[in-house]
Amino acid sequence: SFKSIKGVQAFIQEQEVKMVDFKVVDMKGRWNHLTIPAERLKEEIMTEGIGFDGSSYGFLTVEKSDMVLIPDLTTGFIDPFTEMRTLVFIADIYRLEEGKRVRFEDDPRYIAKKAEGYIAEKGMGDEALFGPEFEFYVLDHISYQIKNHHMEVKIDSRQGEWNAGKSDEKNPGNKVKKNGGYHVDVPLDSSYNFRNQTVDLLGTYGVPVKYHHSENGGPGQVEIEVEFATLLEMGDRTQKLKYILRNNAVKNGLSTTFMPKPFSDECGNGMHIHMHLFNQGKPLFYHEGGYSNLSKTALYAIGGILKHAPALMAFTNPSTNSYKRLVPGFEAPVSICYGTANRSAVIRIPGYATQPEHKRFELRSPDGTANPYLAYTAMLLAAAEGIENKIDPAKEGFGPYDVNVFELKASEQEKIKSLPKDLLEACDALEKDHQFLLKGGVFSKNLVRNQIQKLREEHHQIHKLPHPEEFRMYYD
Ligand code: GLU
Ligand code: MG
Ligand code: MG
Repeated sequence: SFKSIKGVQAFIQEQEVKMVDFKVVDMKGRWNHLTIPAERLKEEIMTEGIGFDGSSYGFLTVEKSDMVLIPDLTTGFIDPFTEMRTLVFIADIYRLEEGKRVRFEDDPRYIAKKAEGYIAEKGMGDEALFGPEFEFYVLDHISYQIKNHHMEVKIDSRQGEWNAGKSDEKNPGNKVKKNGGYHVDVPLDSSYNFRNQTVDLLGTYGVPVKYHHSENGGPGQVEIEVEFATLLEMGDRTQKLKYILRNNAVKNGLSTTFMPKPFSDECGNGMHIHMHLFNQGKPLFYHEGGYSNLSKTALYAIGGILKHAPALMAFTNPSTNSYKRLVPGFEAPVSICYGTANRSAVIRIPGYATQPEHKRFELRSPDGTANPYLAYTAMLLAAAEGIENKIDPAKEGFGPYDVNVFELKASEQEKIKSLPKDLLEACDALEKDHQFLLKGGVFSKNLVRNQIQKLREEHHQIHKLPHPEEFRMYYD
């Protein structure tokens, strides 16, 4: 963490840094980058910045697309993957207004920062902590064949292949069974060494990990859970985690995917988000004797999130593939309700988190295709709206359901609303319900409109493609 360009220059000298790299997040939550030779780093960068074309980042073009990036000096780290010694900074996005550089209101990092200020200003707590869980597949080979609109995806997984790819029929030992990968030990857990190495790197680079393990979807699905952090910080850590993970995978001849549902018959990849609020170090979500020992504040936060759950999904589940994960039978949520230790509900209160300072809930709908800054912020704003308007989730008919929702009587199940079934439904929900995001100027109308338009385009782009299964069903 640096305080000034002088400090950075001294570090460059001392550490023989050759390149300085700037990472800029786009609407999709992908890092883009631009690099300058280290000796070119001058004081002016903090006032002038470096110009770039913001339109290719998926942001709505403001007048002209001229934007400027200015590094956040507190974010510096040495890139562990480059051949040449490179110092990386995460950068903020500015735009030009009458020759002046002003922060671009739709920069996802700025949105996160605005939300933190809004919550504090509203007296809802001085600290919102987020704890995402990252589920993904580790694969050693993937090939796509696209022939006459017929797409075949072949996967040879590192953890053995009962289901796909070049299975070794002569030696069926040490293979993970379909949806049987949860906590399996080595040698079944064949990406173990890779994960240890990655998690060690993450710790060194400021992303402390709580634990990592092999996850249900077998073969190849794993999970990394990180320690809690504040909103903007967790956005940065999420970006860094993905960067380190992907690059370390490539280094090891592997690839990783956060795609929500890569295989139809195996568990999908979720990115459950745990959240809780504090004020001056005091946990605001605990109240002994409340439902699941939750405070009123926590319950209202749950009420707000459940009320806005469909609209939220345009930010927490912003891909066509997201909705292929949200189907019954794979521990992924489908219903808008809450419960203790209930994996079929979209909000679950972990039964094991019993200490006041650990009391929290998790939102289970999100997935790794989300821009993390936007997803965490949208979730927080929905919670804030619930707290502000005292939305009682029980009175709203959201539960609690402490049983598997799929096992309820049909007449009971009918009472529970379903999550959006595709991207189009999520977009429609956001179009109708986005006032809570505009509070405190955190999200702009432009960004919401832009998101709806882009996602609808994506939906139609995919929807008009003949599906491989359609050939099987309808060809002759
Ligand atoms: N993979 C499941 C999902 O899609 C979650 C499994 C779990 O509870 O960790 O959300
Ligand atoms: Mg999991
Ligand atoms: Mg979870």
